[in-house]
Amino acid sequence: MGKVTPFNSIRQLVYHTNTGCSEAVRIDPIDRHTGTGHKVECLCCARLNRTKQKRKTRKALEV
Ligand SMILES: [Zn+2]
Repeated sequence: MGKVTPFNSIRQLVYHTNTGCSEAVRIDPIDRHTGTGHKVECLCCARLNRTKQKRKTRKALEV
C-alpha cells in the first residue's frame, strides 16, 4: 500500500495513484495501463495520499 506512479484502467474514467485504493485493486491486469490517461485523479486515491501525508506530519511533530 502506498503512493505509486499513476496508472489507469481502460474501463474506468479516473486514474489511480495508490495501491491501497479499493477501486484500483479491482483493475484487471489486462486493462491496466501506466500513466494518467488524461483522466482525473481518483478521489479515493487522493484521500489515501493525503491521509498518509497527514500522518507523516503528525509523527514528525511528535518527535
Ligand atoms: Zn483510486
